[in-house]
Amino acid sequence: MKEVDWLDFRDHLSTADQEGRRVWIYPRKPRGPFFRARTWLSWVLLAIMFAGPFIRIHDNPLLLLNLVERKFVVLGQIFWPQDLIIFAVALLVYLTGIIVFTAAYGRFWCGWLCPQTVLMEMVFRKIEYFIEGDAPGQRALDQAPWTAGKIVRKAAKHALFLGLSFVVGNTLLAYIIGTDALFRIVTDNPLNHLEGLAFMVLFTLVFYAIFARFREQACTFICPYGRFQSTLLDEHSIVVAYDYQRGEKRGRWHRGQSSEARRAAGLGDCIGCQECVAVCPTGIDIRNGTQMECVHCTACIDACDGVMTKIGRPKGLIRYASLEGIERGERLRITPRIAGYTLLLGALGLLLLFLVFTRSDVQTTLLRAQGALFQQMPDGHFSNLYTVRVLNKTSHGVPIELRLEHPPGDLQVLGGGLVAPPQKQTETSVLIELDRTNLTGGKTLLVVGVYSNGRKTETLKTGFVGPRDDSK
Ligand code: SF4
Ligand code: SF4
Repeated sequence: MKEVDWLDFRDHLSTADQEGRRVWIYPRKPRGPFFRARTWLSWVLLAIMFAGPFIRIHDNPLLLLNLVERKFVVLGQIFWPQDLIIFAVALLVYLTGIIVFTAAYGRFWCGWLCPQTVLMEMVFRKIEYFIEGDAPGQRALDQAPWTAGKIVRKAAKHALFLGLSFVVGNTLLAYIIGTDALFRIVTDNPLNHLEGLAFMVLFTLVFYAIFARFREQACTFICPYGRFQSTLLDEHSIVVAYDYQRGEKRGRWHRGQSSEARRAAGLGDCIGCQECVAVCPTGIDIRNGTQMECVHCTACIDACDGVMTKIGRPKGLIRYASLEGIERGERLRITPRIAGYTLLLGALGLLLLFLVFTRSDVQTTLLRAQGALFQQMPDGHFSNLYTVRVLNKTSHGVPIELRLEHPPGDLQVLGGGLVAPPQKQTETSVLIELDRTNLTGGKTLLVVGVYSNGRKTETLKTGFVGPRDDSK
């Protein structure tokens, strides 16, 4: 078996030592335009994330994934198990979207949009910087003996982490059970909600463990997306990459040294300052190439751009690029492949939106009542009894009117007007009478229109059973 080469990045994780113990990462505070852009975006994302359960569209939450009651709300639209086809298409669109997106844009999601990265880097890490200082201060504090000052700072940090984890955990719970159920758990007698409270505690502890201890390990070991991205990326994908053509061979820079002088000495633009490594939250060296641990957070781009500016060289030694582009010495450009993938992603997104927003609010089924045969009325008409089931997916009552559209006849909803209660399925009986002259053999096709507030929402087809030896 091949010996592990501890100097080769491919042979070991940067976050584990030779005994397999955790190597704690102290990433330096990033600064630069990418970090500023990510910060602004993170405020928007955090606002949506925490306000999401409270935002109402047509009285429904923005997003609810109630697996227990099999109730799902997306963008205010309630989805029921009957909407399985939309779920199936959504799942296919989602999986295809992930594959296409990653193949084109690499791990853009991880660095800019993933809740784990946003919360870790933009909330928890910033609290840590505020209380314990930048990386050198944190390292020094951890190595220092336990004094009153250290206890106070550590206790303050972990109390804040725990409190925030409670908020994050409850937000997740609100996305699962809804805000009303969450408030009931908080305000009601705790003994009535032991299950809910147990989940509250569990979620809080899980998030605390992730943000206080587990951190980058969640992306490296747990997140399936991180694990299979290596199979999705290729040399055309846009990734955070080190331009080895321009950077190599590495060598120290002396004040006033021109790039010509460096070239003449066989040196590239990388001055070996390790700034890119110091800011990396996953502890890797991007100069080794694209690695599984890299979450494309762009911190190394900012760090290296800062260095390049100081030594008077163009920015972009580490940049968004494809490996093919770097090999050819090209800047990032929209290739036909990227344009094609982007169009495909747009089309998939539109398909999903089309399915979501053209889905009917009310779903009606009309079936002959079980075991009932036709009846001949005293006036010679024939009648069939039906059961109508109406699933109202909206959060308000919907008046339903059924009209027999073919053949001519009489349709009567037994028990009077039908109003489908909100978010419920209701059923009632319907009697349909046809004149003998309108029967076509043993089974006559019926067309029934479903109307709500005068607008036709559905057309139903069913059979009407009559006598077989019909002689019109
Ligand atoms: S920050 Fe730039 S110059 Fe410094 S080591 Fe990294 S790649 Fe080289
Ligand atoms: S290598 Fe760069 S982009 Fe990747 S995780 Fe580290 S700092 Fe972020």
